Amino acid sequence: MIVVLKYGAKDEEVQQVCQMLEEAGYKSAVWRGVERTVIGAIGVVDEEVKTRLMEQIGSLPFVDNVIRVLRPYKMVSREWKQEPTLVPIRDKLVGGNHLIIMAGPCSVESREQIYEAALGVQRHGADVLRGGAFKPRTSPHTFQGLGYEGLKMLREAADAVGLPIVTEVMDPRDVEAVAELADVLQIGTRNMQNFTLLREVGQTKKPVLLKRGMSATIEEWLQAAEYVCVEGNPHIILCERGIRTFETYTRNTLDLSAVVAAKQLSHLPVIIDPSHGTGRRDMIIPMALAGIAAGADGIIVEVHPNPARALSDGTQSLSIEEFGRMMRSLEPVAMAVGRSLYASLSEAMFPVKHDGETTLPPKESDLPSVFPVKHDGETDGITLSEFEFGILVGLLIGEGHIGSDGRQPQITLRMHAQHEPLFRWLLERVPGSKLYGPYHHGGRHYYQWMVRGKTLKQLFTLLERVPWNQFSPHLSARLQQLKNLYGLGATEEEKETEALS
Ligand code: PEP
Ligand code: MN
Repeated sequence: MIVVLKYGAKDEEVQQVCQMLEEAGYKSAVWRGVERTVIGAIGVVDEEVKTRLMEQIGSLPFVDNVIRVLRPYKMVSREWKQEPTLVPIRDKLVGGNHLIIMAGPCSVESREQIYEAALGVQRHGADVLRGGAFKPRTSPHTFQGLGYEGLKMLREAADAVGLPIVTEVMDPRDVEAVAELADVLQIGTRNMQNFTLLREVGQTKKPVLLKRGMSATIEEWLQAAEYVCVEGNPHIILCERGIRTFETYTRNTLDLSAVVAAKQLSHLPVIIDPSHGTGRRDMIIPMALAGIAAGADGIIVEVHPNPARALSDGTQSLSIEEFGRMMRSLEPVAMAVGRSLYASLSEAMFPVKHDGETTLPPKESDLPSVFPVKHDGETDGITLSEFEFGILVGLLIGEGHIGSDGRQPQITLRMHAQHEPLFRWLLERVPGSKLYGPYHHGGRHYYQWMVRGKTLKQLFTLLERVPWNQFSPHLSARLQQLKNLYGLGATEEEKETEALS
């Protein structure tokens, strides 16, 4: 059952409900959303006790509603939590505005191979490096992966280019060791219902990439996610990787309707795997585009420096160059559905809390109190250069991005069409900038403004001249963090000089 409290419920009231649930034999879990607080009851109790308890709790004055959850999964359901879950992978978030791209070889084969792959995918804007060290191969006579040695190589290569890693763990006995080196633990399709393994990764704090079993229904997939969640790990990313059908032309049938269904039924982020989903290199890019258009939160794709010589899954791996092409093809589709492809400054600006949730970017309606924008582009009490002003507005409404198109750094701002005058104004003043749109998505019309071709360092210099502290104490700190992330932070020497002056 789920207990929904009335708006503004006090801590003691939350406590009281938890106590009642626990006395009846349930475990309780509290979720404080933006709009409402809900308390979930986990466990099995006698039907009669349950009905009585529901009545008692339902009659408390601060309780809005008590819902009996009939679905076989609860904590991962939309009833439990309406807001989408954002899964943090280092300083990126899966499930937010930014699409997460995980790329790399099926298997780690050698130091040279994984370094080359890491460099290649990072250069084209991947967020996470993938690579299998423990491989679930259908035949025991094929390459089985390099195991722990491969995992160490993957870690080193990823560190060299500053990316987090995702890698499969197959055996509950390996979970601890793999979790020590990996940023994301992948549960493969063949293990989706390995309940011991699910419970084990549920006891870690690492995000879990849960692939859909190749013969699993959507409901079974969500119950597998529930296994991880009830152990205390809510950081789950669902991955549709293709299912078995009668079709043999493709290796699997990538079920894009499952992406839509999973997002309707659950608050968890969902990504797609067009490599395993099709088994064919020539279908990866079109299916990646379709997946993002269908609402997926990202992609995991196999990329190999030399697919023809790959020890596993070469036929469904992109070359590095093709991966670059995929990223460029994705950009307009991402834009059209209101998502961004390259690392988002605004998301990094809003601190991730320990439970993996973020403080939400300010709503546009909250803007005037934070940042009084006038239509002539002036602000009250503060003079900003034109360029800075545009960036600041973008950041404050949570829709500004700094990243790279794979070749050069860029800043993009997306704003509601009602701000069109601001864009026109920026367009006139920032040489080389471009305006795209208007786009229509989710009942909103917006434009995207973009400038490329400056060095990142210059872009940061511009950003730093904005007196962030006057808007929010978080902003300068986050900007500094971001500079560090891009390797542009102050050196120890510079910090010392600063401390002395
Ligand atoms: C993989 O990602 O290389 C893999 C083995 O995936 P799946 O479990 O989806 O087959
Ligand atoms: Mn593979």
